[in-house]
Amino acid sequence: MNDCLFCKIIAGDIPSAKIYEDELCYAFRDIAPQAPTHILVVPREHIPSCAAVTAENAALVGHIFTVIAAIARSEGLEQSGYRVISNVGPDAGQTVPHLHFHILGGKRLNDQMV
Ligand code: 5GP
Ligand code: ZN
Repeated sequence: MNDCLFCKIIAGDIPSAKIYEDELCYAFRDIAPQAPTHILVVPREHIPSCAAVTAENAALVGHIFTVIAAIARSEGLEQSGYRVISNVGPDAGQTVPHLHFHILGGKRLNDQMV
């Protein structure tokens, strides 16, 4: 999508701190980290949010979760734990309408949300 921030990052038009990439997804450090480790994992395909996950793209989302687990291992988060979040829509605080999963860890996270 032409005016999508994460599509521009995936295309390399906007620089990012890449963690991992493959033919289906791209992972990079969040520009405003909310934990010592804060990584975003996004599909290359422009999917607006979790609300647009269907039987047709479910395998892609499953693949992304294998990548999340591998990144968490390589970042040393596996022992202490980490949180995976995907905000959907304005009330949840989604600011970029391209499906993304936050990986947060490296400290004791706030207990208040879920
Ligand atoms: P959301 O609020 O939609 O769940 O998450 C969007 C995330 O994208 C935010 O945590 C925000 O800090 C991050 N972000 C916004 N613009 C950029 C950018 O240009 N580069 C990177 N690396 N992250 C960004
Ligand atoms: Zn996009």
